[in-house]
Amino acid sequence: MKNVGGYADVLVGLQYGDEGKAKVVDFLASEYDIIARFNGGANAGHTVVSAQGTVKLRQIPSAVFYPDKLLYIGSGCAVGVVQLAEEIRSLQEIGISLEGRLYVSSRCVLVQPVHMHLDQIHGKEIGTTGNGIGPCYADRALRMQDGERVALQIRDLLDDGASALAQMHKRYRAQLGTMHGAETQVGVSMQAWSEAWQLVQSYVTDDPLFLVSRVQAGACVLFEGAQSVLLDVMYGDQPYVTSSHTAPSYAYVGGDLPCAYHRKSIGVAKAVMSRVGSGHFPSELGGARSEQYCAEAARNGTGAASERASFDAAELLRSNDAYKQGIALRMLTGEYGTGSGRPRRVGLLDLTQLADVVMLHGIDELFLNKCDCLVYFSDTPQACIPLLAGRGKDRDTVNFPAFTLDGEGIPFELQQILEFIEAQTGCRIRGIGIGPERHQSVYFNETLIGA
Ligand code: GDP
Repeated sequence: MKNVGGYADVLVGLQYGDEGKAKVVDFLASEYDIIARFNGGANAGHTVVSAQGTVKLRQIPSAVFYPDKLLYIGSGCAVGVVQLAEEIRSLQEIGISLEGRLYVSSRCVLVQPVHMHLDQIHGKEIGTTGNGIGPCYADRALRMQDGERVALQIRDLLDDGASALAQMHKRYRAQLGTMHGAETQVGVSMQAWSEAWQLVQSYVTDDPLFLVSRVQAGACVLFEGAQSVLLDVMYGDQPYVTSSHTAPSYAYVGGDLPCAYHRKSIGVAKAVMSRVGSGHFPSELGGARSEQYCAEAARNGTGAASERASFDAAELLRSNDAYKQGIALRMLTGEYGTGSGRPRRVGLLDLTQLADVVMLHGIDELFLNKCDCLVYFSDTPQACIPLLAGRGKDRDTVNFPAFTLDGEGIPFELQQILEFIEAQTGCRIRGIGIGPERHQSVYFNETLIGA
């Protein structure tokens, strides 16, 4: 196929999520015509801070503040109709209309009430958000069981809404069995479902060539990845991964566009790493002790407020114990799960890991958020910024002089860090984040900053 017309770029998170992808998408959106999602569902959480307010998006692409941009939810996404209706309504409340802008592929698989129920029971061990995404994708692969369809797509609702809803109802009811109040629970849930579908259906497109035809006509697409590549269901470390593919190449499967239109892959990382839930995290401050503490805190419902009541972040930071420094950094940088409030495990920027991810997924350019969080290292006894680099016996921390962000422009010390990251990853840094707000970012021109 000839690559004529427009093109597509793919933006993904390069670590364990929460790298600040939404802010970068919000910045880049002006360069594109369509922002599209290709994976995941309401288990994603994107935060965009703007003059119109702070918007938390879960399924709708982040470029909601640009009235002239189309937003597309591709077939690879698992759609939670009730949550999607809530998102549409909450945007309407702050004056953002999605009419004629948001298009949801009719091939998206539906997250049914039974999926939410199963996820809330069985997802705890992995630490899922309980939004039903894993069971939904599992059913998509299973297709039928005991002579009945278990996966439904949006187009089933378009074809025969009544029987699709009846099918969902039946499965949910059967799952709840003799549970007390089951009938009422199913009734309430199905009522909410039907109401939400009334709103959502006007945003559905049944055209499988929706993106292809627009790109052929010259439109440029930015695919926005949910979760991050280290949590890919296949590349990540099972079982502590998300249930969808997060690798940039999957954008062309779940996003309904031939890969012939691919132009470049953009990766977003953060300068102080974090991870929610269990699983591999080689650069974690405090190692297994921190992992265990965070798992326990998640079980007990310990979040930001109780850590604030129990610890003095400044004092912990002055300790020589990496575990304590990790707690302090979490408190100072607000590393708690967006929906759950669970404490996230905190770690150093792991450049060995980042370099591998860049290579494996063919990342062409980098955005590095949360550089402002590095300033806290100046209050540690070492008073320097450690990054992890090297391989085998050479894998060690490399220390950089601390800096503050009080003055104009990028401090020389931070510039040195950015140059080191570029050298280690072989990837150009196109911009950095120095705070959560839209204006708290610095974007570089086309040249390598270290060149
Ligand atoms: P993602 O979409 O899952 O990658 O993550 P979000 O876009 O929701 O960002 C996670 C959090 O980081 C949100 O609270 C953002 O406001 C915040 N954030 C984004 N960029 C920066 C930054 O440069 N500095 C700081 N301190 N916070 C940031």
